Amino acid sequence: MKPKNAQQRKIAALSKRLKPITEKQVTWAYKHCFEHIAYRTAKNTLTCGDCGHTWKSGTTLADTLCGCKCPHCGAELKVSDTRKRTFNQCYYFCVVTTCQGFQVVRIVMIKSTSKKGSASTYFYQEVAQRWIMPDGKITTMALLRGIGCYADLWYFGSGMEIRPHHDIYNIISDCDNYPRVRVLPIFKRNGFKGKFHNASPVKFFRSLLTDSKAETLLKAGQYAVLPHFIHYPHRMGNLWNAVKICIRNGYIIKDATLWCDYIDLLKHFHKDTQNAKYVCPADLKAEHDRLVAMRNRQREKEDRERERRREIDRQESERRKLERMQENERLYAEMKAKFFDLVFSDGVLRIQVLQSVQEFYEEGKAMRHCVFTNDYFKRKDSLIFSARIGDERIETIEISLETFQIVQSRGECNQDTKYHNRIISLVRKNIGLVRQRMSA
Ligand SMILES: [Zn+2]
Repeated sequence: MKPKNAQQRKIAALSKRLKPITEKQVTWAYKHCFEHIAYRTAKNTLTCGDCGHTWKSGTTLADTLCGCKCPHCGAELKVSDTRKRTFNQCYYFCVVTTCQGFQVVRIVMIKSTSKKGSASTYFYQEVAQRWIMPDGKITTMALLRGIGCYADLWYFGSGMEIRPHHDIYNIISDCDNYPRVRVLPIFKRNGFKGKFHNASPVKFFRSLLTDSKAETLLKAGQYAVLPHFIHYPHRMGNLWNAVKICIRNGYIIKDATLWCDYIDLLKHFHKDTQNAKYVCPADLKAEHDRLVAMRNRQREKEDRERERRREIDRQESERRKLERMQENERLYAEMKAKFFDLVFSDGVLRIQVLQSVQEFYEEGKAMRHCVFTNDYFKRKDSLIFSARIGDERIETIEISLETFQIVQSRGECNQDTKYHNRIISLVRKNIGLVRQRMSA
């Protein structure tokens, strides 16, 4: 992308004047960033991934726990029992420098390919530069990147140019820095002493330029809590007053995560987070653990209470269900009691009106049809019979109380049985009895 304004033109020109990344910087990165592997075979033979040297080791357990040292090149190695014969590693590191009033963070990609039995091969190239202006704004110069979600898809032949912002530049900036750094005087005035305190240099510089809290924390030596404010400024915002109490009382927060959790607990228990007595505990761990235990007890109590309420609800719904059932039984009996003593029989089949809602349930379950599920017991205009031989259910019959016709007669799973026609004619023969009861 062509520079669009004077500032960008200046940066593009200055970028060309930066000295190449030095041999010394790259050597540091090789040592520092990569995992150095010793391949181990079953016979306890070790092969150095760095130089390819092979030797026999007598201290299996010690190797596994503490790693080993290559007797040939002196590399400290992590022992791996992997059967993989190649290891590809790709990392980024940055070089922090200055140029004509800009703070510059140069990002270098390094790759290593280690093949078992031969020396590792290395590759590096500078892929991006973040130019930070005194107002905290950042201009990025970078190589062209392929489309895709892989961060390391760079076109190494493309030029270092001004590029529009992309999240990937922040992601790769989140890397270790070469320990010798050059910073603008403003950062030294703000208390920078050479360390970024677990923040990435780019975020660190930007915070110091745009957020007075970062500056205050750095000057006060609150190094543990500083990166939390750099990385999560919004979440940390509501702890700022408590942090100020610590600064005022000369209380250095050593374990920021523990302290933040502790303050959250204080807030939960409505303790005064403006009071040094709470905010600056002499034994943070003990106070933290005490509140955690208190919170756990509270949670258990809440769980028990929830459980108790669930049980009350369950009983209540059980009671309502029972009431509904009783009401259904009452309505059914009211509508259909006058038919209950009707029995049609031909000596083998016995056909009788279902006597209760409970019987609808049993009939539906045994016959695997919907006579209960679909509330047939609520229908005013039909009458349901069960045709049986002894105790065995054969078919369920519905008769219309308006037309006195058989609406349906169905066996198990709604199939007809071999008794179907016999049942139909037996019902038809006796339908007059139903009509009589109806008009009675
Ligand atoms: Zn070696």
